[in-house]
Amino acid sequence: MRITIIGGGPAGLYFAILMKKAESAHRITIYERNGPDDTFGWGVVFSGKTLANLRAADAESHAEITREFEAWDNVDVVHRSEKISIHGNSFSGIARLRLLKILQQRAEELGVEVNYRTEIQDLESLRNDCDLFVGADGVNSTVRLRYAQKFKPDLDVRAHRYIWYGTNQLFHGLTLTFRENDAGTFAAHSYKFNKTTSTFIVECDPQTWERAGFATMSDEDTREYVANVFTADLNGNPLLSNNSKWINFLLVKNTDWFFDNVVLLGDALHTAHFSIGSGTKLAMEDAIALAQAFQQTTDVKQALESFTAARRPVIEDYQAAAFESMRWFENAAQYMHLSPMELALSVMMRSGRVSYEDLKKRDPEFIAKLTPGGRL
Ligand SMILES: Cc1cc2nc3c(=O)[nH]c(=O)nc-3n(C[C@H](O)[C@H](O)[C@H](O)COP(=O)(O)OP(=O)(O)OC[C@H]3O[C@@H](n4cnc5c(N)ncnc54)[C@H](O)[C@@H]3O)c2cc1C
Repeated sequence: MRITIIGGGPAGLYFAILMKKAESAHRITIYERNGPDDTFGWGVVFSGKTLANLRAADAESHAEITREFEAWDNVDVVHRSEKISIHGNSFSGIARLRLLKILQQRAEELGVEVNYRTEIQDLESLRNDCDLFVGADGVNSTVRLRYAQKFKPDLDVRAHRYIWYGTNQLFHGLTLTFRENDAGTFAAHSYKFNKTTSTFIVECDPQTWERAGFATMSDEDTREYVANVFTADLNGNPLLSNNSKWINFLLVKNTDWFFDNVVLLGDALHTAHFSIGSGTKLAMEDAIALAQAFQQTTDVKQALESFTAARRPVIEDYQAAAFESMRWFENAAQYMHLSPMELALSVMMRSGRVSYEDLKKRDPEFIAKLTPGGRL
């Protein structure tokens, strides 16, 4: 098969790896507008279950990825300067750039052609020149936009704002920190992803954002303002910027996932709010599902139909959980009257997918501490 992929992020690279591994005769070309060392953001998180899926799909890249991992089992909720730790979770963090490097190297080893610094505008001639054309070009996908009439996307720009920083303050575990000032409520999502650096994502509601005056603030002043809000948590460490800007989260869904020989993958196809931490996982598991569909048949239409049938219910379920989680963070100010223990419980159960009984199994000590009787 001749396969053309737009976008060399986790979805595009991993799909290319799995297809080339399954059949070395496939001619696979990736077009990526960035250079191999450019990236946005800091770290990404995987759960234990995702790692098992990655191991089954490609043991080689899994071994490299896990060699680099920072693993932990705790979610820490910080409210009114009190830290509540909930154990029994399984997460790992890795730098996004390191993950991409591992996937780039593996793709090249297998013979995938990756054209960096090549931004594709003329999609039609490329797609006519291959058997399968994959739009793995991220949340602002050009492929989705170009063929919007076919995919019929549903794009929901959320009012909340977030900004993705790094810091050398090490957060050992997924740490959710809530701080209030005169402007309103801020939440930080942070975790260590290598020996020296943590991701530090900060979000707030639009009213808080306006009152803080971010609209007219320079990048430097914004960084200082945010560092001041979290001064007790950063321990004197500055926030590190990677051209970091305030962003509105874009919730992406598509009515149709493919037409003719064109299919979307990863963030181009769907997004899940970062508070559920699973965008990269979903992108790579999409790649696994699509590659598996081509193991059953070489008929493109049949493969794309079976990919959609297998994957759509999984994605819908994730997006539903991520939506609940996003709504919780959008309404965080309403929960600030809760005690630290009550808030921690509410945070843990926000997606509707983790029950009181689940938490009791994961961390009986946490539940026992809630009240002497074990319930709120
Ligand atoms: C604040 C924040 C925090 C996040 N935290 C996590 C987390 O903790 N864990 C997690 O798993 N995920 C996280 N994510 C999500 C994660 O970053 C994405 O879900 C993931 O990168 C999706 O992979 P992808 O390959 O679909 O898209 P991308 O990684 O966006 O890759 C798309 C690629 O396509 C390229 N491209 C775009 N247009 C063109 C074009 N016209 N021509 C050529 N190339 C093009 C881009 O340069 C890019 O490299 C987070 C996202 C945000 C915004």
